[in-house]
Amino acid sequence: MNDQIFKTPIEYLKGVGPQRAEILKKEIAVFTYGDLLSYYPFRYIDRTQFYKIRDLNLDLPYIQILVRLKSFEHLGDKRTKRLIAQAVDDTGEIELIWFQSISWVQKNLHLNQVYIIFGKVTFYNGKAQMAHPEMELFNKEQSNRGNLSLQPVYSSTEKLKQYSLDSKGIQRLMASLLDVCLSQIDEVIPTYLIHQYKLNKRAEAFQNIHFPADANTLKRAQNTLKFEELFFIQLKLLRSKLLRTKKFKGNVFENVGEKFTEFYENILPFQLTNAQKKVIKEIRADTYKGIQMNRLVQGDVGSGKTVVALMAMLLAIDNKFQACLMAPTEILATQHYHSIKSLLKDEFVSVELLTGSTKKKSRRIIAEQLELGTLSILIGTHALIEEPVKFKNLGFAVIDEQHRFGVEQRAALWRKNIIPPHVLVMTATPIPRTLAMTLYGDLDVSVIDELPAGRKPIETLHLFENQRLRMFGLMKQEIAKGRQVYVVYPLIQESAKLDLKNLMDGVDVMSREFPLPDYRISIVHGQLKAADKAFEMQRFVKGETQIMVATTVIEVGVNVPNATVMIIENAERFGLSQLHQLRGRVGRGADQSYCILMSGTKLSREGKIRLETMVKTNDGFEISEIDLQLRGPGNIEGKQQSGIMDLKIADLALDQKILQEARKCVIKILDEDPELLKSEHEGLKSFFAKTENGITLDKIS
Ligand code: ADP
Ligand code: MG
Repeated sequence: MNDQIFKTPIEYLKGVGPQRAEILKKEIAVFTYGDLLSYYPFRYIDRTQFYKIRDLNLDLPYIQILVRLKSFEHLGDKRTKRLIAQAVDDTGEIELIWFQSISWVQKNLHLNQVYIIFGKVTFYNGKAQMAHPEMELFNKEQSNRGNLSLQPVYSSTEKLKQYSLDSKGIQRLMASLLDVCLSQIDEVIPTYLIHQYKLNKRAEAFQNIHFPADANTLKRAQNTLKFEELFFIQLKLLRSKLLRTKKFKGNVFENVGEKFTEFYENILPFQLTNAQKKVIKEIRADTYKGIQMNRLVQGDVGSGKTVVALMAMLLAIDNKFQACLMAPTEILATQHYHSIKSLLKDEFVSVELLTGSTKKKSRRIIAEQLELGTLSILIGTHALIEEPVKFKNLGFAVIDEQHRFGVEQRAALWRKNIIPPHVLVMTATPIPRTLAMTLYGDLDVSVIDELPAGRKPIETLHLFENQRLRMFGLMKQEIAKGRQVYVVYPLIQESAKLDLKNLMDGVDVMSREFPLPDYRISIVHGQLKAADKAFEMQRFVKGETQIMVATTVIEVGVNVPNATVMIIENAERFGLSQLHQLRGRVGRGADQSYCILMSGTKLSREGKIRLETMVKTNDGFEISEIDLQLRGPGNIEGKQQSGIMDLKIADLALDQKILQEARKCVIKILDEDPELLKSEHEGLKSFFAKTENGITLDKIS
């Protein structure tokens, strides 16, 4: 059986033994045959062709050239000693350099001989160079001997090397592993898909990813294994969604009742956008069906997610259920509480706030009302799930800014009822489609892809320190118009002290430029007590202060429509999605808003791209794509919680197409054959059932 061979402990492999097995486990987490098999090369050495010196460039990987050695020269003093050789082919000249083993090199290499040299090309003063090339004397037969291929390079460690497991050593293990296990590898991907997508057979793919004959063979093996990897992630996610729908009945919201209608027709102060209406309809359809809804709403900052969530909660209340809204921070929860209260015009529906700093007495009252069912909406932080909060009848749960809540916490919410509530997850950080499919592949996704009418795009400027006067000018101009300004400083994780100093220096500068009594400044940072934070926030919200100097605590969700300027200090230190979030704090009213990115002049390549991107576009989805390209999916917030992101070969930034195809296939398969009973899905079923996380339908129901 295929998975048996995969699970064979690595010490059984010829050439491993107990000592090396120990090291392999410790250093690179290789415990079994299967682990080693999927320890893929991180690059390949191209032995398939000889490059011409004329055609060399910096982008080439390790390559080989056929050259004749022309001269040797010793340079430098005792410390900077080096040997330089000039070598030529019929198109040009290249310099070979050695800093070590100089006497050995000179003894073994001979002038006027032809060598295959092998390495990475660099350029110095326009001239091609190769340091410490591998050299091999060339003989005529070699060019047609057919052993020229792509050679795998495996990453190794100092420890591994001590046990002769450098790249070459690992390569030897791999060869003997393939020898014993290739014949025992069963197909798992259905044959018709292998044909349809021109994939390799599974055994072939493993052979060719480790020892490809040429670039095309390699490409195909990589595609096959990427497809397989993404296919199984999707199968897992979509199967668990299927199971969940089967297992959990959902509350049925039969009526669009009084509160909803009253709110929509008489209280809502603006027209909903079409995108908002569309999402409300989707929620309505979900909650009517008798299955439990799990829906993710993605919408750019300011697209109006809160009101969508509120109307969904009213729907629940009209059907005699309670609703809750959970936010990641106290500031944000408080903000939601106030904006929902004001949207609801007070006494219309009962709403309470529960956070870490809610007083004991209020806590008790809230708990009572919850159990009695007289409280309709509870808004709060983690406190909602961490405390022994009991709802009488929780029917709908909204989670704002999902990326800070894990799958676990979502599940904890469900446990509050026998029939789990419908769950609406809202994220204000747009994430690329592929990431959404993988992180939230078990959710249905709605997108609010339209901003309320009349919003002017925020104008973004990137200024350097010597342009600070311009920044002050803009601030004064806007404050004179009665507008407000945010000034944000980066949070330095390593040093809260330095953080505060940075911020306080900023405050000093600001107070000199904007003195009392004409100007008033609020200050909010992480070291303040929650109550003080809230107090300062409220002063700004009420318009009592014109400038809010803060660290990133204001990043998410804060809503002060009168604020029109966002200044971000040391903007180069922020990530793209964070910059976008911060910028989203302005442009919330009808007035033209501005975002000023202040930075030093020394910028990294990435830092530069980030700031340029911000100046160029306001589109959160476009920004998230660029962010993914820059940072790779590994660094995108939220992945730590997913546990499904440690991909072995697929790259969510590069392999979007493969992912989409794989997902399409999985959807079709589960649609036509949810239990995987068809004979062509037999391999799939047995493989899936045996993987640790695969769940069979029978086990659950
Ligand atoms: P986000 O999607 O970032 O959470 P909010 O829900 O905070 O956005 O909404 C941003 C602002 O836009 C709020 O002041 C809200 O009242 C307002 N708003 C929401 N929907 C509309 C709409 N359709 N027309 C006009 N203003 C709207
Ligand atoms: Mg919001």
